[in-house]
Amino acid sequence: MLLFTPGPTPSLEVIRNAMALPTLHHRTKEFEAYFEFCREKLKDLLNMQEVLMLACSGSGAMEASIKTFCKKPLCINSGKFGERFVNIAKSHNIDYIEVVNEWDTAPSVDEIKEILLNNKDIDSICIQICESAGGLRHNVEEIAKMTKSVNENIIIIADGITAIGVEKIDSSNIDVLIGGSQKAFMLPPGMAILGFSKKAIDIIEKNDVGFYFNLKTELKNQRKNTTAWTAPTTIIIGLAKYFEIADIKTIYKETRARALATQEALKSIGLIIYPKQPSLAMSTIYNEDSVSIRKILRQDYDVNIAGGQDKLKDNIFRINHMGIISIYESSWVVNAIELTLDKLNYRAFDGVANRVFLQKYYMELKDC
Ligand SMILES: *Cc1c(COP(=O)(O)O)cnc(C)c1O
Repeated sequence: MLLFTPGPTPSLEVIRNAMALPTLHHRTKEFEAYFEFCREKLKDLLNMQEVLMLACSGSGAMEASIKTFCKKPLCINSGKFGERFVNIAKSHNIDYIEVVNEWDTAPSVDEIKEILLNNKDIDSICIQICESAGGLRHNVEEIAKMTKSVNENIIIIADGITAIGVEKIDSSNIDVLIGGSQKAFMLPPGMAILGFSKKAIDIIEKNDVGFYFNLKTELKNQRKNTTAWTAPTTIIIGLAKYFEIADIKTIYKETRARALATQEALKSIGLIIYPKQPSLAMSTIYNEDSVSIRKILRQDYDVNIAGGQDKLKDNIFRINHMGIISIYESSWVVNAIELTLDKLNYRAFDGVANRVFLQKYYMELKDC
């Protein structure tokens, strides 16, 4: 079965093999060498001054960030993950302002500027780079830049869990950049990543908050290539292997080509792309037969793609592009969707989806 859900993503055999080595103790020179290697590679990838690796899923890093940096966050809610920032703030009795949009719609830079100008007590913005609920790309870089021009002390917390390792992110105005192991890194779930600006580091060093998610304690330890608590050793060894094999420029190029080619191909067979600003991490299609489409894809064509969540549970399907994916797998997914539409009497199969996919894919690769 081809796993094409936007997280967890399939792990490559070389990465799985690296993780199958005998367990290492986390307080050893041997493990610290892996840790240091990953730290340096992550700083490079995120283009941030400091990074942390935490033993938790992505939401743990979201909670740690809210607790450490936010007294009055502006939360951008264009889907389940934006809503999660709001729910975390609520759970800690932190006052917040929320911008709610349909899951296919990103708020404009001007709309956010207006809110910042009218609410001088906002000290942080929490936003997804890609809101995975609808596969929507927010204009995070522009929002961050505008925010800093309004007030440079407002902390930008960007959830890049489905953007890191997908595309080059301009993190120059981002203070906290959040990642997770189970998306573009193709690792098992269980590790969150945080990148910090100089401004964020200063706050961490002043704000001694929380216990397990105390970023001050964690930063002190991780600067010495160790962790405050037991490290997720297996995942970190897998991450080291990822960095060993990953040519990040090629990954960006191929992910982009795969995403654009998939969208073209699906449009060519009459399907509708859901978000107004699609991310490169996944292709999201709006279709009221999504449940049947996914069922046929699984049963007849060995393809597992994701449905939606909540109000969009049965009305969208999402195809993953994150990670290192063989072109013949992505092309089979597109083919299988066209075959499925034939079975559901949408249109007769003529192979156009695959033709459009391959034409667009190789054209994109040639162009960059
Ligand atoms: C997957 C994902 C998360 C992390 O969720 P966890 O289940 O806690 O790992 C957070 N934000 C986005 C945008 C995601 O796609």
